Amino acid sequence: MSYLAKNYNRKKIAFKYGKGSFLYSTDNKKYLDFVQGIAVNSLGHAHPKLVKTIKDQSKKLWHVSNAFQIPEGEKLAKNLCKKTFADYVMFQNSGAEATEAAIKVARKYFYSIGKTNKNRILCIKNSFHGRTIAAIYASGSKKMTDGFGPKVPGFDHIEFRDSKPRFPNIRNKIKKTTAAIMVETILGEGGIKPIPDKCLKYLKKICNEKKILLILDEVQCGIGRSGDFFAFEQSKVKPDIVPIAKGIGGGFPIGAVLMNKKVASGMVPGSHGSTFGGNPLAMSVGNTVMDIISNKKFLNNVKKLSKYFLLKLNKIQKKYPNVIKQIRGRGFLIGIQLYKDQTEFIKKLIDNQLLTIRAAENVVRILPPLNVKKNEIDLATKIIDKVCSQIK
Ligand SMILES: *Cc1c(COP(=O)(O)O)cnc(C)c1O
Repeated sequence: MSYLAKNYNRKKIAFKYGKGSFLYSTDNKKYLDFVQGIAVNSLGHAHPKLVKTIKDQSKKLWHVSNAFQIPEGEKLAKNLCKKTFADYVMFQNSGAEATEAAIKVARKYFYSIGKTNKNRILCIKNSFHGRTIAAIYASGSKKMTDGFGPKVPGFDHIEFRDSKPRFPNIRNKIKKTTAAIMVETILGEGGIKPIPDKCLKYLKKICNEKKILLILDEVQCGIGRSGDFFAFEQSKVKPDIVPIAKGIGGGFPIGAVLMNKKVASGMVPGSHGSTFGGNPLAMSVGNTVMDIISNKKFLNNVKKLSKYFLLKLNKIQKKYPNVIKQIRGRGFLIGIQLYKDQTEFIKKLIDNQLLTIRAAENVVRILPPLNVKKNEIDLATKIIDKVCSQIK
């Protein structure tokens, strides 16, 4: 009997400890963990530098109010701004908080320049921005909003298709009251679908034309996951606001909103806050993660090894064209799209001691730690090949 509410359909495995890419279960099995807390443990489990950071900082200071200076947070914000498009950062604790804060920044900016009726946010239907009341209505997925009405106003939706036009009717969806377009650079929960660079450029062009803001949700695809620090970097598009979370804490809850100078002007004292956001313990961990991941060499290695992995997966797809429809994704945000429901496939992977997780559209989502080793990729590939052979 479990006293936890039944909002999760949990697998019957529990873990004692983790090390790097592996998890060790209470029934003494060793699993290759290519879920990593859903893109959260970006440096694997129990990374020595993160262990040391937590140990050292926990003896000094965990939490103080944002009413005071927090040097660890100053350092992380500076580092994030120096390495990216951003001029200012606002710390939160999770992805949903970060996307909601991003919406608040966009609305407050227009309010502050006297355009008080510009407040609507245009999102992709069936995308994912988190589970809070506003975020589910931003995502516009019936599965998430059912039963949680009344509907939160202020969100409009466009479709994102694999065929052309990719965003049908988008210009007509932008009203005089639209403040921003908010999309995930790579749709994660939605089935690992990167928005092509051309389409991102097109979105930016429309934003410039209509004088509205571009919010790119990099909660899942950011912080090195795509092989670049941010997934939008290779398109050369500059967003106005970027919510981040998952990978930046390496397993410790951190969320943040990055923004440019223009939109930051609306965030005056008292306009937003968070009790836990930006606490010294979280910020110390964030600084260690940032030092490792923002390094060019580290990111080049993510690019190199993820290309190797994708190549191998594409070979498997060719070998089992009746099982695998498509290999999708970029960097270490990878989706194996099956023809059939993915439940059995994922279960067989677990039986072979490889952990993965589902995404929409029959996709098996694969999220290795960013410091995964080549022989661990080889091991995963072997297991995936074996399971494909059992499926057909
Ligand atoms: C996971 C995710 C969120 C929500 O993050 P939480 O920490 O679960 O609130 C928001 N946006 C995207 C793109 C995500 O993948």
